[in-house]
This record gives sequence, structure tokens and C-alpha cells, in this order.
Amino acid sequence: MHDFIYKNSELYAEEVPVREIAEKVGTPLYIYSHKTLLKHYNAFDEAFDGYPHIICFALKANSNLALLKLLAREGSGSDVVSGGELFLALKAGIPAKKIVYAGVGKTKEEIIYALKSRILMFNVESPDELMTIDKIAGELGVKAPIALRVNPDISASTHPYISTGLKKHKFGIPINKALEYYSLASKLNNVKILGIHKHIGSQITKVSPFVEALKKVLVLAQDLKSQGIEIKYLDIGGGLGISYDEEVAPHPKSLARAIIPLVSSHNFTLIIEPGRSIAGNAGILITKVLYLKKHLKKEFVIVDAGMNDLIRPSLYEAYHHILPVTRKNRPKVIADVVGPICESGDFFAKGRKMGRPRHDELLAIMSAGAYGFSMSSNYNSRTRAAEVLVKGKDFSVIRERETYKDLIKGEKIPAFLK
Ligand SMILES: *Cc1c(COP(=O)(O)O)cnc(C)c1O
Repeated sequence: MHDFIYKNSELYAEEVPVREIAEKVGTPLYIYSHKTLLKHYNAFDEAFDGYPHIICFALKANSNLALLKLLAREGSGSDVVSGGELFLALKAGIPAKKIVYAGVGKTKEEIIYALKSRILMFNVESPDELMTIDKIAGELGVKAPIALRVNPDISASTHPYISTGLKKHKFGIPINKALEYYSLASKLNNVKILGIHKHIGSQITKVSPFVEALKKVLVLAQDLKSQGIEIKYLDIGGGLGISYDEEVAPHPKSLARAIIPLVSSHNFTLIIEPGRSIAGNAGILITKVLYLKKHLKKEFVIVDAGMNDLIRPSLYEAYHHILPVTRKNRPKVIADVVGPICESGDFFAKGRKMGRPRHDELLAIMSAGAYGFSMSSNYNSRTRAAEVLVKGKDFSVIRERETYKDLIKGEKIPAFLK
């Protein structure tokens, strides 16, 4: 649940009217709630209380430093998938010993950086990568802590682009090859086997795929044990869904209740890597209505945010509630809510029934805290939005809106054009 609610007819972020923030900071604008973030992090932490665990927030959902700092203070670790994310996690004060590193394409430079930073472990996605990590660790004279990411061939029943746990996906190693590759790893001089990792997808709204996948992983852990390979960390990945529309996502407690009994007789430390379920409903995107337009019978509401700010509707046909920042009694209209970008895929909603907005009216695109800003771009040479964190009655800009100057940062004109 979140803390963006109406008081009278005004939408508030905690105790601050959204309108007030938008007037001060401009639009498009991301607003996050401190309270919601804490609540979501603690829901996980408390759910797994009683079993050793580390919550490793998945940075790719939202990597704003202020948000990371807030989570770091609560004791959060992080799941990173690039050197850049590792940099941000460390910068925010997340202890290296709580950082796990996944991703199918880690570069040599990234591996060196992670080894030197002494992260908790690499979640290794192929035997090729395993050999590379072993070699680099050897050159540095260290032992690389690793888990193998296994692909349990479980359908997460989610959008194909955010499903990762089937045989056909590029992620992890097939679970039926896992014994072979663990055995290989155990013979390498410069790696230390610490765990098993799996992550089957995102926006999963049932507990059962987690349970099915874990059961397969536990069989593997048992087989490894009989070969003398002890697993300390069982990393069950992230992927718990949130409610964007009507879907009801399980509470972390339900996940924990299903999972803990399966591991209670073992001495693992569980690692959980939630991203969306912590940040998703803790953020909204505020946009201003620019124009209303009618093509024959079709109506368009043209707003000042675009797919460069929030790409989820374009990329996954994702649904986001769109609410007026000030509720008014208006005749209803069925409209497409679209951005200014020169692409037909630039939309936030199609055929949406809503109160007919007026020029300059503010709209809130809900559930935009995860995979919102972090997937944003400068397409159409648009400056990226500002980000604000609200805490109680206060709010702070946690990322300035980009300026035109930022658009050419790092660009150079070659001498022959001067
Ligand atoms: C994306 C990702 C996550 C987070 O997924 P959510 O659906 O946001 O919880 C966790 N672990 C790995 C390895 C990921 O790639």
C-alpha cells in the first residue's frame, strides 16, 4: 500500500499536496514517499524475521542515491547488475558484504571492480563467465565468492519480456547442468562456492512459482551436499508483483510463510532481491496536460511526460492508473493519454475512461516508482525529469531536472568540423 491519497479533492504525497511540489519543481516529475519505501522494505525484513536473511534491493528498479541511502540505513543490501550499479550501491553506503552481482554479461573491468570491492558474491550466469572470474581472481590473488544462477525452468506467468526462468531464456544455467558446473567450480583454485541463485521473473502475482522453483533448487542443494559442496546462501531472487490495476499481489508475509518451512531444517542464509515490490508503489509520475485533440471519434490527451520518462506502457503494454491531482466533477471522456514523442508507441493509456481534463491540469501516473526513472532516456533530446522525495510534511529534490546543457555532456566536435 502507498501514501499517495486524496484529502478532500487534492492528491497528497504523505502530508504534502502534490500540486505544491509540482508548482515548485515543474513537470514531468517523479515523487517518492519515504514512508512507503520504509514500509515496503520493512514488510520484507519482518516477513523473513526468524530466519537468517539479507534483503538485497534490486537497484535496477530505482537507483536514485537518496532512495538507496534510505534503504541502506534500514540495513538493506543490494542486487546489482553492472559496475555502475555497484558504484551507486557503495556510494549510498550499502556494505559490500551485502551486495550480490548478477547479469549475463559482466565485463572484465566490472569483475575486477567487484572483486576489489569485496562484494558478498557473484551470481554467475554461465560456465564461460565462471572460468573468466576464476582467471581474474587468480591474477588478483583473491578468491572470488560465487553462486551459480540456475534456471529452474519454471514459468512465472508474467509478461514474456520480464519472465526469466524458462529454459529458452538467456539467464542462468539450466538446472540439469548445475551439478556438473558446481563440480567444475569446486575444482577451480580461485573461486569459493557460497550459494545458489535463482530469479524467475518480475511482476509475479502468485506464490506458487516461487515455491516450485525453490523446491527444485533445494533438491540441487541436497545433491551438492552429498558431493561435499556446502551451500551457505540461498538467493531466491526478486520478482514479487505489485498491484498496478486490479491484480492482487501476495504480501511478502505470504511469500515468507510459503518459503521458510521449506528451508527451516537447513542452515542457509536467505537472500531476497525485491525491486518492484519495494519501489513500485512508492513513486508516482506527475505530468501536465498540454493539449486535447480529437481525430474523428478518437480523443487524445497530450501530456508533457513521454515514453522517455516512463517506458513501461510502450514496452510491456503495462497498465498504470492515471489520477487527477485535483479531483473535479467533469464529464467523462474515453481517451488515449499520450506523450509528445514522435512515436505511436508513446502512450500511457489507451481508451481510458477519465474525467475530461483541461489545459494545464496535473495528472498523476501511479505505481511509477520502479522501472520508471531508471529506464528513462533522453530520446527526442528531452531532458530527464526531476525526482523528489517526500517525508511527512517535507520534500526534497533528490535529482535536479536535466538542462539542455546536460544533453551534450561528453559530446565533442572533431577538429575537422571546427
Ligand atoms: C530484476 C531483478 C530483480 C528484481 O526484480 P523485481 O521484479 O523488481 O523484484 C532481482 N534479481 C535479479 C537478478 C534481477 O534481474
